[in-house]
Amino acid sequence: MPVKNRFAELLPEITEWRRDLHENPEILFETHRTSAVVAEKLRGFGCDEVVEGIGRTGVVGVIKGRATGSGKVIGLRADMDALPIHEQTGVPHASKTDGAMHACGHDGHTAMLLGAAKYLSETRNFDGTVILIFQPAEEGGGGGKEMCDDGMMDRWNIEEVYGMHNWPGKPVGSFAIRPGAFFAATDQFDITFEGKGGHAAKPHEVIDTGVMTAHAITALQTIVSRNADPIQNIVVSVTSMESSSKAFNVIPQRVQVKGTVRTMTDATRDLAETRIREIVAGICTTFGGTADITYHRSYPVMRNHAEQTDFAAEVARAVSGECEEAPLVMGGEDFAFMLEERPGAYILVGNGESAPVHHPEYDFTDETIPAGCSWWAEVVERRMPAA
Ligand SMILES: [Zn+2]
Ligand SMILES: [Zn+2]
Repeated sequence: MPVKNRFAELLPEITEWRRDLHENPEILFETHRTSAVVAEKLRGFGCDEVVEGIGRTGVVGVIKGRATGSGKVIGLRADMDALPIHEQTGVPHASKTDGAMHACGHDGHTAMLLGAAKYLSETRNFDGTVILIFQPAEEGGGGGKEMCDDGMMDRWNIEEVYGMHNWPGKPVGSFAIRPGAFFAATDQFDITFEGKGGHAAKPHEVIDTGVMTAHAITALQTIVSRNADPIQNIVVSVTSMESSSKAFNVIPQRVQVKGTVRTMTDATRDLAETRIREIVAGICTTFGGTADITYHRSYPVMRNHAEQTDFAAEVARAVSGECEEAPLVMGGEDFAFMLEERPGAYILVGNGESAPVHHPEYDFTDETIPAGCSWWAEVVERRMPAA
C-alpha cells in the first residue's frame, strides 16, 4: 500500500497528538485548548501564516509550495469539536472531562491534518498554496458556516476544498466517496401545544394537550409514508416530549415536542416543513387547542462536486488501492456550507470494526492515520504538481 513512508515514521508522534486531544475534548465553539494546540503546532512546523479566531475558535494555517506560480489555492478542512457524551471506552487516553467525549473521531481528523501539515511544511513539493482549515462546532453549531461568514474563502482565495471523515465498519485505511448529494439537510422543529389544563378526572372541562400530542406524533409519520415520493429519502423523527405537568392526576396545560427532519432535496425539505405546519394546524382545529411551531433549517444537503470527487477517488485508489462508492448518509455535515461556496469533495476513510460514531464506546483508530495523512498530502501534490 503506497502510504507515504514519512507517515509511517510519524505515526507514533501523530498518535500521541491524537490521544492528547482525545483526553481533552471540548464541545462546539469551546475548543479553546484544542485551537491553541493546533495553532502552536502549525507555527512550530513553520507554516507561512497562522490565524486564530476565524469563526470564533477556528484556526487557519497557510503553507506555500516550493513554487506558487500556478496561483492555485486548495483548502483542507478538519473538525476539532467533541460531543456531550460520557465516555465509556475504558482506554488509557479516555476523556478527562465528565460529559464530554471525542465520540465522532474529530480528534483523529485534527491529528491527521496536523500530520499532513507537518509533512507539507517539510517537503513543500507542490506549486501553489495550501490552506489548512481547523473548524470548531461541526456537531450542530455551524462552525464551518461561521468560518465562511468570516470571509475565509475570499481572504485566502481558496479555489477548492476537501474534507474527510472516519467511518466505522469500513476496513482501516480504505476509502469511500460519492458525487452529488451525500449527507442530508438537517432541520429541527419545535412545537408547543397549548390547551386547557385541569383535573384528570374532569376531561370534559379541559383541552387535553396529551391527546393532541399523541395524534400529532402519529400523524407526522404520514409525511414519510403518505406525502413524500417513496423514491426520495426522508426521515421525520420526534425526539423529545415534555409536559408542563409531572403529576398523574393533572392534564397538562402545555406540551413541547421536538424533532428533526432529514432530506436530500430542496423539494422534499419544503414538503416536510409545509406538511408539519398543516398537520399541526389540523390537530389544533380538531381538538381545540393552539400550537406554536418553530421550524429551523440547519445544515443544507452536502453535495460533492463531480470533478473533485473523481479526483479525490483517484487519490484514494493511489493511497489504498481502492475506493468504494459510499452510501447516502442521513446524518448532517457542516462541510456542506464550504461546498456551497467552493467546489470540492468529502471522503470517508475506514475506522475498522469500532463502535459507531456518537457511541460512548467509540474510539478513533490510530492505524488509520498513515492512510488519512497520505490522502491529504497526495491531494495537494497531485492537484498542484511541482514543475
Ligand atoms: Zn458526529
Ligand atoms: Zn463527525
